[in-house]
Amino acid sequence: MTVTAEILAVGDELVHGALLDTNSKWIAGELEAIGLVVRRFTVAGDDPEQLRIVFAEACARADVVVATGGLGPTLDDRTRDVVAGLLGGPLWFDEPSWDHLCGWLRQRGRPVPDSNRRQAMLPPGAVPLANPVGTAPGFRVQAGLAQLFVLPGVPREMQVMLQGHVLPFVAAMPGLTPTAQLCLRVLGPSEALLGERIEPFMAPGRNPAVGITASGGLLTVRIVATAATRADAHSACAATAGELRPLLGDWLFAEGTAELPEIVVQRLARAGATLAVAESCTGGTIAARLVDIAGVSSVFRGGVVAYSNDSKRELLGVPAALLDTHGAVSEPVAAAMAQGARERFGADVAIATTGIAGPDGGSAQKPVGTVCFALARAAGVRAWTVRIPDLGRSFVRDRAVFEIWRALLREPLDA
Ligand code: AMP
Ligand code: MG
Repeated sequence: MTVTAEILAVGDELVHGALLDTNSKWIAGELEAIGLVVRRFTVAGDDPEQLRIVFAEACARADVVVATGGLGPTLDDRTRDVVAGLLGGPLWFDEPSWDHLCGWLRQRGRPVPDSNRRQAMLPPGAVPLANPVGTAPGFRVQAGLAQLFVLPGVPREMQVMLQGHVLPFVAAMPGLTPTAQLCLRVLGPSEALLGERIEPFMAPGRNPAVGITASGGLLTVRIVATAATRADAHSACAATAGELRPLLGDWLFAEGTAELPEIVVQRLARAGATLAVAESCTGGTIAARLVDIAGVSSVFRGGVVAYSNDSKRELLGVPAALLDTHGAVSEPVAAAMAQGARERFGADVAIATTGIAGPDGGSAQKPVGTVCFALARAAGVRAWTVRIPDLGRSFVRDRAVFEIWRALLREPLDA
């Protein structure tokens, strides 16, 4: 027995390419974590006829449907009307939702236009779901065989309401499939090579299921188990991971779902090493990713964005002769940048990037996409060059940033 779910994202901005539907991804993760099986995402604009079809189909297929968007106060937000139409009755006015809405707006010194009354209108049979962080309430209603939850589109409001109203409700439904997941993170082989190595584990129908996803140069082996209890599912994942680890050997560099910068910071913290960065072509991106991580201050000393030759000389002490002889994009300059940053910030480890992001500035010897890197530590400095395919400035920059994470995961970090 399984409890199936479908997720609907509603909004013209989503289908016209102006905004990415991030709500569905988040909702799916939360629902799967408590044992629902998510079967489909559907994204639809605000057109009532399309919405009617999409809602009717999802509610006819799934046990649980979670929809976001289209609950605004204006006439182009039509989700509540469409659901009312589907249930064959008129909207009704929910006084407590209106009181909450008025209170919310007044508390913030905002007027209460009459058009906001629409947000307190609910389809027949709907149970209002209070919105503690905004004006529009959501609602839950039985639609056909499905429990339909409709939440506002604003991600922060949606998340609070999913956690407060939806998850507690569905977690109590009978027939949930306890699942567990474990991720092994792999760096080195191609996806095909990794696939060959662990092929027997990837047979269709295996439980735990084993799959590979590739993202940003990194491979993740995802192990997903279902079992009678959550604990059994966890043990099954752990058993499969135990069989996989020896096959992965050196390729395996981390476990879990953390992003690369976080794994790097964990590694630095374990080594008791501090880090400084000297960035040219990456323009501060490495530093920005690092400071996304809570607690990074224990390992990150600081960084310099040294874009011009002058700033490489003045801020990092790169000798003018090196710049003249080898050019700014060269291994000797990258090495001097890293050493300069290491000394100036008093860090154990420093990294540097200098490259040609394009579209201009390339030459026969140093085409666009040529990036030089260096990693300095007490034992010395290592510099290397990577020819990144010229697929645009942001591509070159992102690959350069990835190269730094890879170096910080692979190189020894202690003195
Ligand atoms: P709505 O509830 O339709 O008025 O949506 C309000 C705002 O939430 C929209 O203008 C978007 O900025 C955002 N939003 C709506 N749906 C999504 C979605 N599926 N993913 C991410 N953001 C969304
Ligand atoms: Mg909308």
